[in-house]
Order: sequence, then C-alpha cells, then structure tokens
Amino acid sequence: MKITIDTSTNSRTIELKKPVCTHQHVRTEATLELVVPMIARRFRAAIIMPNLKPPVTTFTHLEQYKEIIHRANTTGHLFTPMMTLYLTDNLNPGEVDLCGHHAVKYYPRGLTTNSADGVENPQALWSKGSKPHQVLRLLASTGKVLILHAADGFAREGVIVRGTQYHADEELDPYDQEPHFMRETLPRIIDAHPELKIEVAHLSTKEGAEFMQKNGGKRLGCSITCHHLLNDRRDVMRGGFRPHLDWRPVIQPKDNTQALQELCFSGHPFVWLGMDSAPHPRKVKEAACCATGVLTAHAGIELYAEAFETFGALDQRFENFASNNAANFYGLADTDTTITLVNKPWKVRGSYLSGNPDEEIIPYRLGEEVLWRLVE
Ligand SMILES: [Zn+2]
Repeated sequence: MKITIDTSTNSRTIELKKPVCTHQHVRTEATLELVVPMIARRFRAAIIMPNLKPPVTTFTHLEQYKEIIHRANTTGHLFTPMMTLYLTDNLNPGEVDLCGHHAVKYYPRGLTTNSADGVENPQALWSKGSKPHQVLRLLASTGKVLILHAADGFAREGVIVRGTQYHADEELDPYDQEPHFMRETLPRIIDAHPELKIEVAHLSTKEGAEFMQKNGGKRLGCSITCHHLLNDRRDVMRGGFRPHLDWRPVIQPKDNTQALQELCFSGHPFVWLGMDSAPHPRKVKEAACCATGVLTAHAGIELYAEAFETFGALDQRFENFASNNAANFYGLADTDTTITLVNKPWKVRGSYLSGNPDEEIIPYRLGEEVLWRLVE
C-alpha cells in the first residue's frame, strides 16, 4: 500500500491492492444491474449471498446466477463473483460437491431477510445423521468454508444472557442473539467439526469480539461491516427509529462498537472486510414492518477508509484487512491490480432506481458526506 501526500493541495492518495468483499447481496433484476458495477469497480472478488426467493440450493441455480452477475458487470473491470449455497435442513451434499470451491451460508430460520428456508434448529449442525451435519463434514473434508449468520432465535435451555434470564425455548431479544450463539452454538459446531473452516459474518457484539480474540486463527475468521464500525445504537434511534440504519445483526450499543473497532484495528490476520450491503426497495424499508438491510456498496471501500482513518489505522493494516486476509483464508490468487482513493469528501446525493417506486433504493448516508473518494 502506498500513501502519497500532495503538500500543495493538502490531499492524500492511497493506492492499495484491489480489495475482496466477503459479503454482498446483489439481489436480482434492476437491483443486481445497479449493484454489480458498484462492487466490480471496488473489489476484485466478492462473496455473493444466496438468500434469493427461492434460495440458491443447487449447482444449476448457482451457475445461472453467476452468469447473470457476469453479464451485469459492464465496467470492463475483472471481477470474480464467489458464489455460495444456502444451507437448509435438506440441502443435498451432492449439490455442495458439484459446486467446487464455493462456500455454504448458514441462516438461522426467520431471523433475517429470506431466511424462512434456513436451518430450523442449530442442533442439526452437530447432530450426526442430519443433512446439515453431512454438509458440514463434506465442507471440512474438502477445505471449503461455512459462513455463519451467528445468531440464535431461541434459548436452548434456561440461560442468562447479558443479565436477562431466559427459559428453555424462549425467544431471545435481538440484541442477545449473537451473544447466545457465541456461547451456546459456535463452540458446539467447532467441537463437532474441528477441521472445518468457519467465517463468522458481520460480527456485531463485544461477546463476538472476545470470542474471536481468543479463538481466531487459520480455521476461524470473521468479517466486519463498515456500518458496525461507524455507528452505534444511538445513531439508529436518534430522534426516532431510522429504518435506513436497520440491519440484522442489529447495530449494538457503544461498548460493542468499541470492541469491534479494537478487534478490527489491531491487525489480526483472521479479521477482514465483509460489507453486508443489503439493498431493499424504499417501500419495504419505510413500512409497518421494516425490511432489514441497507445499500452500502455505492461507497464500499471509501467508508472503510474513513473508519480506519478516524482510528489512526490507515496504514498496512487497512490493506491487510481489505485485500489480503480474506484472500488468504479463501485461497484466492494474489493480484497486481490496484485501486486508488483520495481524501476528497463527496455527498451521497439522491436515491437509486428512483424512476420506479417499486424499486427505489435509499443508500446509506443519503445527504451526508463520505470522506474518501474512489479515483476512476
Ligand atoms: Zn447479509
């Protein structure tokens, strides 16, 4: 990574190896055609989430979806979509086998967008004889990665989480879902499948950060989103609930944001970039039951540069986090391609796809400034 300072204009330019994003929702149709060029300009590869309707559970569907993404990349930039299969209670290990090096994504049923087909009871992940257990064994034996949405919907047994008593099978508070998963579910998956490579996606809590500080390594890593680094719960609730800052996992209170920042900026090789950019039409965001997820891909790498700069970490740690760590974990080839960022603030103006009220998307930071700019 190279930082150049122009003293006459007081501007700084960063050139870094083209990054890798481990978490993108590109959706379908007009949204897909909008988002794919945004990410192809900023990332050399991105892991594409499979929670479509219906979910991506077969090799044929995965290949078709990949082809559509390739066609939507009209930028002239080389871009690799890294495809994933959606783990259900019935996902056929044969399909996983056909899908070569691609990863499998675990969704806890009912806890996020299009997760109705997710695994009903996480116990299936370590119960011999279940389909999910077979899939995890296959992933472990072939060196493929299980990506976890690390949340539990219900207490497994009587338990106290962050001071709240839950009885067995009681619904967990959304703020307690990841802490419960980190304590009650992830250790059991690791014990049952010690050879399995696991990525915890969008780590969001201090309990998650503590777990990674203790256990992160060659087989266990995590991604962190820019919105979890740049926001805490006060931003989501300031003056009223803000649907365009609502994600799953939820943005937590300040001490959690601080724990994530500390983990992220300490330069661990098992921590990397994963945006969880998750666009939804405005009408389902501004609705009686707000859809969770927001578009961030329009400023994908710029927002991370801002976060690293704010915390004095805009040095080799930034390039490792953005471009090297996930590439090493997923076995991607190194690259000579670079991107350039300059510290010239710009304002996020207007919504996307605004001609059609069924498709209009409100981006993260609408009407506000982003401090870094991609040089194209
Ligand atoms: Zn996601």
